[in-house]
Amino acid sequence: MSNYSPLETIIRKQIAATGPMPVSRYMQICLTHPEYGYYLKRDPLGRDGDFTTAPEISQMFGELVGLWAASVWNAMGMPQEVKFIELGPGRGTMMADALRAVRILPAFHEAISVHLVEASPTLRDKQREKLAETAYVEWYDSIDDVPEGPAIILANEFFDALPIHQAIKQDDGWHERVIEIDDDILAYGIARDPMPRFEVLLPPVVRAAPNGAIFEWRPDNQIITIARRLRDQGGAALIIDYGHLRSDAGDTFQAIARHNYTNPLKNAGLADVTAHVDFQALARAAEDVGARAHGPVEQGAFLNRLGIETRAQALSKNASEDGAKAIAAALKRLTGPSPEGMGSLFKVLGVSHPDIETLAALSDQGSPGGASKS
Ligand code: SAH
Repeated sequence: MSNYSPLETIIRKQIAATGPMPVSRYMQICLTHPEYGYYLKRDPLGRDGDFTTAPEISQMFGELVGLWAASVWNAMGMPQEVKFIELGPGRGTMMADALRAVRILPAFHEAISVHLVEASPTLRDKQREKLAETAYVEWYDSIDDVPEGPAIILANEFFDALPIHQAIKQDDGWHERVIEIDDDILAYGIARDPMPRFEVLLPPVVRAAPNGAIFEWRPDNQIITIARRLRDQGGAALIIDYGHLRSDAGDTFQAIARHNYTNPLKNAGLADVTAHVDFQALARAAEDVGARAHGPVEQGAFLNRLGIETRAQALSKNASEDGAKAIAAALKRLTGPSPEGMGSLFKVLGVSHPDIETLAALSDQGSPGGASKS
C-alpha cells in the first residue's frame, strides 16, 4: 500500500520508532543514505538531470578558477608541491577545465596533485573518466583523509548540500524545527522544549526577529577543518555557492527535481534537498580558528574581475555564429542578475593562511586582490 519512495518508508519507520526528527537528520538521510540517498546512485547534473551548475554552463568558469588558483600559488611562494583539493566535484568538469587552463604555466601544472572528496560512487566514475589524462588523482570520503601539505581547495555548490538545522522562534524561546507524521503525511513540527542558551549565540538581527521566524545553521566542522588546515599547512580555499552575505532569519530549505522547485518533504531521496549558505557564518568560523577570510563577493563581480568578458571574446572569435551566441548567453547566465542569472545570488568566499593578505578578485574594495596575476 505504500506510495512512498523507499527512503520515505525508512524515514517513517524511524519517526514512528524514535519520534520527530530534526530537519538536519531528514536532510542527511535524503542526501546520503547509503542505499537510497539522492547523491549515491545518480548523476543529478545537466539538462537531463535535476539541476545545472556554473562549470556545466561554460568552460569559462573552470578556466578562470584555474587562473585564480595559479595566482594563489604565486602568493603562496610557488611551493614545488601543492595539493589541488576539490570538495564535491560533480562530473569533474571544473577541475578538468581548470587544469587545462593552467597548462600554460608548466611550473604550476607540474606542482599539482589532484585530491577529490566525493560521496557518490556514480559521480566518482564520471570524475575518473573526465580526468583520465591527469597524472595524479586520488579520491576520499572526507577532507580529513586528504594527506598533509600546502593546498588550494575548491568547493562549488558543495556547502549547500550539507545538512542544515532549523530553529523556530516561539514565546518561550527558540525550538528546533522537526519533521513528524501528521495525518499520515510528513509535515513540519516544533520540538516541545526550547533550546537552552540558544538565543545568546544568535546575531542581533536574528534575535530581534518576530515569533514564527526561522533561523538556519550548519555544523561548523567542514569549514573549521578547512581553515585549520590552511592555517597550519598553507594555501587557500575558494567557496562558491548560493546564499547570503550576512546571517539573517529565513527559511531556505528547498528541493529541486527536473529543474523545478518541489516540496522537500515529498519524494525523499528522489529530489535534491539544499539550503542557502550563510557566508557570514563561514567567514566568522574560519577567522575564529586563525585563518583569514576574503570577501565574500558576488559571483558576477568575482568573474568580471578575473576577466570573463575578455575570455568570452577570445572564445567567440573562433566560434560559429551559434557558438558565439551560446557563449554570450553563458556569460550572461554566469554573471547576470536574478532570476535567470547567477551573478548576484551566488557568492564567493576565500579562506587562506593568515599571511596571504589578498586573494585575486576577492577583496571587498572593488579592485582585484593584490596577488600576482601574471
Ligand atoms: N561541484 C559540482 C557538483 C555540485 S553538486 C558542480 O559544481 O557541478 C554537489 C556535489 O557534492 C556532488 O558531487 C555530490 O555528490 C557531492 N557531495 C554532497 N554531499 C557530500 C558529502 N557529504 N561528502 C562528499 N561529497 C558530497
